[in-house]
Amino acid sequence: MARYSGSVCRLCRREGTKLFLKGDKCYTDKCPVERRAYAPGQHGTSRRKPTEYGIQLREKQKARRIYGVLEGQFRRTFDKASRSQGVTGEALLQLLESRLDNIVFRMGFAGSRAEARQLVRHGHFTVNDRKVNIPSYRVRTGDVITVKEKSRNVARIKELVESAEGRTIPEWLSVNAQDFSGQVLRLPNREEIDIELEEHLIIELYSR
Ligand code: SF4
Repeated sequence: MARYSGSVCRLCRREGTKLFLKGDKCYTDKCPVERRAYAPGQHGTSRRKPTEYGIQLREKQKARRIYGVLEGQFRRTFDKASRSQGVTGEALLQLLESRLDNIVFRMGFAGSRAEARQLVRHGHFTVNDRKVNIPSYRVRTGDVITVKEKSRNVARIKELVESAEGRTIPEWLSVNAQDFSGQVLRLPNREEIDIELEEHLIIELYSR
């Protein structure tokens, strides 16, 4: 299945909430969700009561869109979470949070997950000194993510790393902007994942 290449702001309007897919623009009043708080398209303003299935489906789509994951990969991640010993919803979010593109974004080395994905794809990062260019690569506790020596002079990366110093980094990560690196201290618990998502609806959807 092809990756969605249309306007990502439409996805936020479809879900009726800010998914923060565009980096800095999301924090300004230029955000289309602020200006047009209804679904896109001809029937965007119609008030149809959603079904139970519809509500569950929207929640799953919201999660997929936030993390930029295609359906098949999302389903596999869910299956993995449901086989884990912990709470399925939390395990699902932990697996999504431990994707390399998400970690790069969380460390402030990219303005959005989409940008992180592109930077990872272009081979700008190493994990424990080994080049990794797979955005879905699963990062584990203790792993060190570093901007490659050669990439440190790329203007955008320099700008991002410098601004990473002023950002709030989640407590489960540590960042050393001077060294262009960061480390995963542990996996986050649910309260530390600042995503408004009712993951129990996704479990209900896949349990049908
Ligand atoms: Fe979503 Fe950001 Fe676009 Fe607003 S600016 S609609 S939060 S992607």
